[in-house]
Amino acid sequence: MSEKSAHFLEQIIQKDLLKNQRLHLRFPPEPNGYLHIGHAKSICLNFGLAEKYAGQCNLRFDDTNPLKEEQAYIEAIQSDIKWLGYHWHDEIKYASNYFKQLYQWACYLIDQNLAYVDELSADQIRIKRGTLTEIGENSPFRQRSIADNKVCFEKMKSGGYAEGQAVLRAKIDMTHPNLNMRDPILYRIIYASHHQTLDEWCIYPSYDFAHGQEDAIEGITHSFCTLEFSDHRLLYDWFLDHLPVSSRPKQYEFAPLNLSYTLTSKRKLKQLIDEKYVTGWTDPRLPTLSGLRRRGVPPEAIKRFCSMIGVTKSDSVVDVSMLEFSIREVLNQEAPRAMAVMYPLKLTITNLDDGEKIQLKAPNHPQNDTFGTRNLCFTNTLYIDQADFKIEKPNKKWKRLYLGGEVRLRNSYVIHCHDMKLNENGEPIELFCTYDQNTLGKDPVDRKVKGVIHWVEADSACDATFYLYDRLFQNETPDMHANIPFTDFLNPKSLVIVAGSKVESSLKQALPGVVYQFEREGYFCLDETLSKQKKQLIFNRTIALKDTWVQ
Ligand code: ATP
Ligand code: MG
Repeated sequence: MSEKSAHFLEQIIQKDLLKNQRLHLRFPPEPNGYLHIGHAKSICLNFGLAEKYAGQCNLRFDDTNPLKEEQAYIEAIQSDIKWLGYHWHDEIKYASNYFKQLYQWACYLIDQNLAYVDELSADQIRIKRGTLTEIGENSPFRQRSIADNKVCFEKMKSGGYAEGQAVLRAKIDMTHPNLNMRDPILYRIIYASHHQTLDEWCIYPSYDFAHGQEDAIEGITHSFCTLEFSDHRLLYDWFLDHLPVSSRPKQYEFAPLNLSYTLTSKRKLKQLIDEKYVTGWTDPRLPTLSGLRRRGVPPEAIKRFCSMIGVTKSDSVVDVSMLEFSIREVLNQEAPRAMAVMYPLKLTITNLDDGEKIQLKAPNHPQNDTFGTRNLCFTNTLYIDQADFKIEKPNKKWKRLYLGGEVRLRNSYVIHCHDMKLNENGEPIELFCTYDQNTLGKDPVDRKVKGVIHWVEADSACDATFYLYDRLFQNETPDMHANIPFTDFLNPKSLVIVAGSKVESSLKQALPGVVYQFEREGYFCLDETLSKQKKQLIFNRTIALKDTWVQ
């Protein structure tokens, strides 16, 4: 981040710090789903700036709606933030910690004749609210006396009304050009057990009534939120102006991250899960942080991506290839190399006896010696990939193996294919080759061998299954088509399972969380959960080596 010029929010902070202001930020997720890549932008912004300017950043669960929230989400969100490498200030905060204070402030507004209990139905309230072009209309309950309002609000709190029968509203202005100022709802009745406060409350504050006051209670200085809250800023300030709060936070808006070929909305992601298009919040095809982590995406790649896209005030769709680019960049440096054969074809070395073993050493990273080396065993039975052999050389450019041709086996010798066995369909099922023992680590003296293919030794190799993930949607903006549900754009090939593959013996001890580059195939990591469940080695493809979506 430091090499880049400061974005507009950073400039605001720099200016305020010059005036000796404190810097205290917060990240306020609602625990109604897992965090996604859009949240990563907000996390990097808030925790990142607090870190950079020696300020603080709170983690606050905005838990004002018990109907949609769960303890499991609270835990997942914490571990995702930690995984990104950030630390929150002090203990975790909850909006529900402040329910009592918020309730007292609601009573305060009633006392000031600035709030009233409305018994109109939700539909009536909506109709009377007016539109952008029509002013709203006062509710008949707007004239209640302060004393009556006190009684009615108490009745709301003590369970005297049914759900939806009454709400508490601010008394502002039903003709205000900003719809949020037309007597917004402060409290509604919900008879549901809350994950933190259990059955203590049956009235819950609205987002608008809670958010700014929570910021004030925590001494937040800059409250960053996404653009759709621009129209709420007036209301945010109105509450702070009319309540005896002890500090004065300021709200600033920035553009949310929209990413092509994916969705950044918890509600829509939840729909994909509920309707079983994916296996759950940690499905590696989802843009959730837990999904990306399980897929093998390093946190560093996400941070790099967030820094790359910057922070602006204008809405746009970021090309997912930028995320993929940073994943490849980081993995190219970080991933140890290994060999795996996706579609094995048996290859017999005819000038090596049964039981003869040659020990070879292979570097774990071609550009970085600190990764060390590993042992590979070379015997007379190997596997190469079916795609690396053609019976006849198909064209001049073909550098891989063919009958009568030569190729180098990665980290090993040059081999020459002199015979093969075919099945009844005429497909090769075994190749017979000789190896040239003078070609280890050097070219043959008398000829050029250009092609290099990967291989594994048959005896020591492990069986493995590969889960090849691709983009979840085939369309750039799946949720931006009127009248077409986004599920119509799902990519039927977003998961292809390849069983019967072979990986080199060192991968028997593949470490969970480590992403390997399977040479010439892509980046893969062990799926610990699935491997345990299905009692076999299962590797998730984090990403292919090259972008296959460029046209
Ligand atoms: P969703 O629409 O996916 O439910 P949300 O905004 O309702 O997202 P919250 O849990 O309220 O989710 O979000 C926590 C914080 O993350 C908020 O400050 C919000 O502005 C920010 N945030 C959410 N989505 C994005 C996004 N796509 N890009 C940047 N920041 C985001
Ligand atoms: Mg929300």
